[in-house]
Amino acid sequence: MNPSDRLAEHFRIDTAHQKALKKLRIETVSDLLHHLPSRYEDISDIQSVSGLTTGSEAVVYGQLGGLKARKAWKSKRPIAEGWLEDGTSRIKVMWFNQPYLAKMYKDGQYVKASGKVTGVGDKMYIANPELEPLESLPIDRHDSIFKNTENIDDTIYPVYKETKGVTSRWFYHTVMKCFEAGVLEKVTDPIPTKILERYKLYELKTALRYIHSPKKLDHATGARKRFAFEEVFYIQVQKAMERATVSAATSYNIDATGDNVEEFISRFPFPLTRAQQRAIDEILKDFSGQHAMSRLLEGDVGSGKTAVAATTAYAVVTSRPPEGRGTKSGIDYGNLQVAYMAPTEILAKQHFESFIEYFEHLPIQIGLITGSGCYKFPSKSDPTKPTKISKAQLMKWVKNGEVPILIGTHALIYKSVEFKHLAYVIIDEQHRFGTNQRKALTKKGAPMPHLLSMTATPIPRTLSLTIYGDLDLTLLDEMPKGRKQVITKIIGPNQQEPMYEHVKGELKAGRQAYVICPRIDEPDPEKENALNLKSVISEAERLRTHVFKNAQIDVLHGKMTPSEKDKVMKRFLDHESDVLVATSVVEVGVNVPNATNIIIEGAERFGLSQLHQLRGRVIRGTYQPYCFAVTESKSEKTRDRLKALSTAKNGFELSEYDLQFRGAGELYGSKQSGLSDLGMEALKNLKLVEAARAEARTLVETDPELKKHNKIAERVTTLGLNLHLE
Ligand code: ADP
Ligand code: MG
Repeated sequence: MNPSDRLAEHFRIDTAHQKALKKLRIETVSDLLHHLPSRYEDISDIQSVSGLTTGSEAVVYGQLGGLKARKAWKSKRPIAEGWLEDGTSRIKVMWFNQPYLAKMYKDGQYVKASGKVTGVGDKMYIANPELEPLESLPIDRHDSIFKNTENIDDTIYPVYKETKGVTSRWFYHTVMKCFEAGVLEKVTDPIPTKILERYKLYELKTALRYIHSPKKLDHATGARKRFAFEEVFYIQVQKAMERATVSAATSYNIDATGDNVEEFISRFPFPLTRAQQRAIDEILKDFSGQHAMSRLLEGDVGSGKTAVAATTAYAVVTSRPPEGRGTKSGIDYGNLQVAYMAPTEILAKQHFESFIEYFEHLPIQIGLITGSGCYKFPSKSDPTKPTKISKAQLMKWVKNGEVPILIGTHALIYKSVEFKHLAYVIIDEQHRFGTNQRKALTKKGAPMPHLLSMTATPIPRTLSLTIYGDLDLTLLDEMPKGRKQVITKIIGPNQQEPMYEHVKGELKAGRQAYVICPRIDEPDPEKENALNLKSVISEAERLRTHVFKNAQIDVLHGKMTPSEKDKVMKRFLDHESDVLVATSVVEVGVNVPNATNIIIEGAERFGLSQLHQLRGRVIRGTYQPYCFAVTESKSEKTRDRLKALSTAKNGFELSEYDLQFRGAGELYGSKQSGLSDLGMEALKNLKLVEAARAEARTLVETDPELKKHNKIAERVTTLGLNLHLE
């Protein structure tokens, strides 16, 4: 048996199996071996039914049968009873006063049963056992794993994630058969031995054996570490290669030192924060090199990313391309150009307005392109205002270089949008766009334009190193001075009255409020939408009739079309509505300075950094902002976790809390990020991530095309990663 053999060559695979395996993308023996257990169970406490003795506490695995409810004939007590069979024998199970149990379970159900053995001889039974339903028996009683039970360490067995059609047990048995067929002798380790030695990682052969059939838990832990390293390593190799391509590309060299950047900054109605200044310096330094910048600017909502974007855009549009480029005919509007992409129409418009404010004093034209129309500033008739123009007209001016700054939604990506000298691409809320959209925009420039991605999603360092491994990182970890801190209150059960009184008072004083309805964690996204929708609509109804009776209340949710959403957002912005009831999945990243209150229902369902981001919506104005995190949970732990909202310094700190409290998998979803559960687990380990990254970079430096590491190349190309957060 070879690792590359198709499973079907060695095993009888029925159609149900086939479907399930396909879904898990398991085709070859090697694929199977890399389908790793998700956890382990210690079965040293399991007994076989035949070995049970009266008076002992039994833990048995088996199948239920003969379930029925009846009345005890003397006392008339209701009784549920049946038997449990495990392959060695069967034993009666009885529950007193819980007749419904017989109905809750079906004959044939696999369970783990624990309870006290009572009675003697063939009258022996387990009294009131606790049942834990199982998809299947983990390993059956006659399996080899049980044969050697005098060694207590032999009692850890792996549990695999199951899919309809294949059980955990099937995985285990099949893997064992592959081992018996000697497949481990034929696996070759893609990771260079030197790297394994440096971090004391098991070689592949050992790791596979230990992860599927550990003798002790330490083995399994060590093996998992190796595979976690491997996964992060491949991602880092891929990122390092992407990065190498980008930074090998020559780009426009923009010399901002002689420019009037200082003057431009001095016109802002505020002094820059040190973090903003640092970010601008870093970007300008990148501009002055020969190679294309790829940088991620991470900063909390309200940290002032737009000013950084505007200043660096200014440096670009006041620069000219090197001699000999694009100076052929007609008037030469030869300056370099900037494209600035935002995820929604309203955001794009807001950026357009900010840029008008910042560039007003300059002879620089600014264009706006969205699905619903195009604008240009300044207007010919009134130089203080923008004017609506046709798309064709705007495209002409962008193409000939006359309009150097083009702001827009994903409409910017359209083929019809062509630039003369696109030198700088700025992407706002970059997590809302896929890698391909990012690439589509940068492709419009030749040579490769500089790229600035911006995000307000605070994520732990290990995660950004992993999924944004191809980008350099700049943090805006400082808020502008004089910002009012959001007063955050945790509202427990029955504490809502004063909260509503407060918000009513605020509405009366002319302020506005957001109400965020919980995201209901359903694995099925369709269902989730339906539930969220319902909770938003019914909550709005409840607030209308019972709480904010005189207020104008609007709803915003994911099932609305972009233009409907924009309309609702605009009504809120123009204060035509007072309260906006929305789902958290809906981006409310729009600046509504008059909205100073946010109520977040079901707060315990959110990660802390998500809550932090939500409350960021209310810090834009001059009024004191309030956030109410409402939770029905009575758990002390939950409330403690929520309290971190008042103590943490910034979103990054909260994202690290999240990682420790809840783990990355739950927070960022492996589906969205493209990482496996194991990879997610690895994110808790900064050292491991940094090591994988350093090794990957070194490898790509010494062997840029992976010619000497074709096993790694294979894995990297099959990753097909499109890692980003939703
Ligand atoms: P974000 O980082 O969320 O995109 P914005 O760029 O929209 O933040 O800035 C939020 C608000 O803060 C804007 O109204 C902007 O004018 C203001 N602002 C930006 N930088 C500063 C600063 N250094 N001092 C005071 N206010 C600032
Ligand atoms: Mg912003």
